[in-house]
Amino acid sequence: MAPITPASSLDLAGTRPAPLIDPFARAITYLRVSVTDRCDFRCVYCMSEHMSFLPKADLLSLEELDRLCSAFVAKGVNKLRLTGGEPLVRRGIMTLFASLSRHLDSGALKELTLTTNGSQLEKYAAELKGYGVERINVSLDTLDPDKFRAITRWGDLDKVLAGIDAAQAAGLKVKINAVALKGVNEDEINDMIAWAHGRGMDMTLIEVMPLGEVGETRLDQYVPLSLLRARLAERLTLEDIDYQTGGPARYVRVKETGGRLGFITPLTHNFCESCNRVRITCTGTLYMCLGQEDAADLRAPLRASEGDEPLHRAIDAAILRKPKGHDFVIDRRQQRPALARHMSVTGG
Ligand code: SAM
Ligand code: SF4
Repeated sequence: MAPITPASSLDLAGTRPAPLIDPFARAITYLRVSVTDRCDFRCVYCMSEHMSFLPKADLLSLEELDRLCSAFVAKGVNKLRLTGGEPLVRRGIMTLFASLSRHLDSGALKELTLTTNGSQLEKYAAELKGYGVERINVSLDTLDPDKFRAITRWGDLDKVLAGIDAAQAAGLKVKINAVALKGVNEDEINDMIAWAHGRGMDMTLIEVMPLGEVGETRLDQYVPLSLLRARLAERLTLEDIDYQTGGPARYVRVKETGGRLGFITPLTHNFCESCNRVRITCTGTLYMCLGQEDAADLRAPLRASEGDEPLHRAIDAAILRKPKGHDFVIDRRQQRPALARHMSVTGG
């Protein structure tokens, strides 16, 4: 692929565009980009076994993704996370990391990172580090190879563990994200914490969110983290700390291990009041909230002009529509997905 030509971070008048402030006075400084809706796994809470994916022709090119991300960086976004689907299965993805790293060099971006299932990390960890990536999130819900296969349907635990080894060897800081699944990994959380903290990795537990039809009812998968936390507290000393990563996780320090444990609880505790993020899909659709349908098309303004003016106007208009929050519910009356969209579209 040809090298990506950097887009300017200045507007036509040579000044920086106004930063993004939503109607609730929240500054939007964090952009998550789903670079592909495809994945080499089929996790039971994320995808159905037989997914239909977008035609490749609908996807933004890597050059267009760079332009889009750069427009947000020009508007004050200082943290960029590439996700998916599985970001590392997108062909040529390293050229996007390479080109986006110029915003780290310029100081406009404080962090360039990714969320990955780890399957390709062995191959890419060193290169990612070379492009300025410092910390990554690896999703891993179990350390049991059979359970791992059952959860991911297609995944191989050994490959992911080798990926984590490679990431740590390359000097990347790894955080483990585990979705709490009723009757599946509930009994393993203690061991996973000991494993992650023993290797110097933070760990975050996530509640299942009702996104997309996955062929099982959410009630079967959902376990409130308030319950898991209470159970953990019977065996471990969980000390509240005010550590922040700019995300929705609330952290405790586990006294026995010395490591940090985060809880992401969109259902038992809504974290919208401090939301600083928006998400774009691989087709250039901007979602102002993970839990709402409203979206703005950025592909048309992106393609309408070689300059970024129409794109900046479209971004400004969309941010003014960012809602106050989401309203996910999982209970016996509400067993349908809250949203038809799968997590792999917006990247979580
Ligand atoms: N494929 C990459 C991975 O698995 O890390 C990145 C994309 S994945 C959609 C991002 C995160 O969303 C993963 O940690 C995954 O466990 C989580 N996730 C997917 N579907 C979810 C759901 N319905 N509820 C809660 N978390 C979900
Ligand atoms: Fe793929 Fe990540 Fe979704 Fe699992 S959670 S199916 S690895 S996108």
